[in-house]
Amino acid sequence: MIFYPRYFPVAGFTLLPWLMFIKKAYKDDISLLKHEQTHRQQMRKDWTIVFWFRYLLFKKWRMYYEVEAYKVQIANGASLNSCAHNLSKLYFLKITFEQAKKLLS
Ligand SMILES: [Zn+2]
Repeated sequence: MIFYPRYFPVAGFTLLPWLMFIKKAYKDDISLLKHEQTHRQQMRKDWTIVFWFRYLLFKKWRMYYEVEAYKVQIANGASLNSCAHNLSKLYFLKITFEQAKKLLS
């Protein structure tokens, strides 16, 4: 199930494999949908509870999951620069834009 709230703190968010939020302004953004669907697959593969445990507690795992999702997003048309910007700024990973760009290239 996907909800498209008008107001939401982030562009997209997958809470559970069957529960996704995509901000209304991004409703037609296929690359963002693919990013969120990647998280859904990660949750199904690793189990949702394990996914969130790792994601919230370990920077290394958060980076692993996000890098995988952003690579899919880029493969579906998103720009490397905007994804690298987001990766370096939004996830408390303590990496620079250049490091993010290298991870996503
Ligand atoms: Zn993500």
